Amino acid sequence: MSMAEDPIKTILHYAQALKAPRIRESAARLAEQARDAGWTHEEYLAAVLSREVAAREASGAATRIRSAGFPTRKSLENFNFDHQPALNRDMIAHLGTGAFLAKSRNVVLLGPPGTGKTHLAIGLAIKAAQTGHRIAFATAVDWVARLKAAHNAGRLPAELAKLRRIGLLVVDEVGYIPFEQDAANLFFQLVSSRYEHASLILTSNLPFARWGDVFGDQVVAAAMIDRIVHHADVLTLKGSSYRLKDTGIDTLPSARADNTAQ
Ligand code: ADP
Ligand code: MG
Repeated sequence: MSMAEDPIKTILHYAQALKAPRIRESAARLAEQARDAGWTHEEYLAAVLSREVAAREASGAATRIRSAGFPTRKSLENFNFDHQPALNRDMIAHLGTGAFLAKSRNVVLLGPPGTGKTHLAIGLAIKAAQTGHRIAFATAVDWVARLKAAHNAGRLPAELAKLRRIGLLVVDEVGYIPFEQDAANLFFQLVSSRYEHASLILTSNLPFARWGDVFGDQVVAAAMIDRIVHHADVLTLKGSSYRLKDTGIDTLPSARADNTAQ
């Protein structure tokens, strides 16, 4: 194929060979715009390539969000900070840039039921997906079940290695259901395997002082908390449940480890 024929036809042919449909769509249109506006060759090429790259990044984020396992979609933009006046908005905005992921830092969200822990965890994870990171969401109970299945199949190390390639795991609801001893050990291995390698967002209705009860072992809990908080931002949400805000009910009975709230 020679350039002399019709360069746009040639470009469409090459775009197809490159599997770059946005180049196909934009090449002719942008060429006209370039002529009208007097763009340089370099400016035209950059404009065409940017269409393809932007579309690929958006569809990559959408794929990562779809495969994350969220129970529901929540965004930071829809979080009502007026309901959490003690929460540092700038801190949440900074976490939303995904900078903590590059440093394998963790985020811990503590607070009573209904105060927005899961909402913020999902919102931050979606931001992470949009900034190019793979993400996976599950409750603590579900993570443990997954690790237990891997352990029983004799492939726990392989599973942990696979999970380490996911930049962000969200572990929701640590503490609603106490762990058996072997489950606590598996969870400890998950935390250890990610320590200084990849990030975690954890949510819990219990303060760290009560995690020993959840894991049935104060020593394991202390060792785990030590690794989690060494490089972490710990945010404590306060107040009454957002779910109850228009019901006239002020508070829920305080959540205890032995009464599996919700
Ligand atoms: P938690 O995980 O702390 O129990 P959730 O994040 O599940 O609480 O919040 C309960 C419900 O209330 C969700 O639908 C969530 O979107 C909403 N919610 C909680 N806090 C806020 C907030 N500050 N702004 C907007 N929605 C909120
Ligand atoms: Mg929750």
